[in-house]
Amino acid sequence: MALMENMRVRSPWILHFDTGSCNGCDLEVWALLTPKYDVERFGMVNKANPKHADILLLTGPVTKKSEDRLMTLYNQTPGPKVVVACGNCATNGVPFFDCYNVEGGIDRVIPVDVYVPGCACRPEAIIDGVVLAISKWKEKVAAEVPISASEAGPKEEQETVEAPEAKP
Ligand code: SF4
Repeated sequence: MALMENMRVRSPWILHFDTGSCNGCDLEVWALLTPKYDVERFGMVNKANPKHADILLLTGPVTKKSEDRLMTLYNQTPGPKVVVACGNCATNGVPFFDCYNVEGGIDRVIPVDVYVPGCACRPEAIIDGVVLAISKWKEKVAAEVPISASEAGPKEEQETVEAPEAKP
């Protein structure tokens, strides 16, 4: 992995967006930034601009009014990116499923990489979800960055060298 990409995966930047939650899950997300959970110790930084984000942390069911905004945020986030749906609303729309103003879970609108269930989801579960998201994001970053010649090493050359014939 290139040096810049290696540095990047050690400090994922996260954008939190509420697509229509009751704010229960949002309070748990914000608890992560308090000294008790302190996710910045893992290098995670909360950002307000999707153009600076690597991971989208989403709460709530997607309401009809937030659908376009969610799509815009997703498109403005540069790839490779990972989406984490936090809470039962975000994972499948319940308990607001089938309401007149609700589209459904996050994956009805954009692809989701990690689902964190719970109503509200616990901070520990969100941290687990984000750690899983980081490993998925690393895979996506690695898949985009070709291995440099120096990192690949002389392995191929060694494999093509023919062994000398044994003396009688
Ligand atoms: S999952 Fe529960 S706590 Fe979280 S936004 Fe939905 S209703 Fe609120």
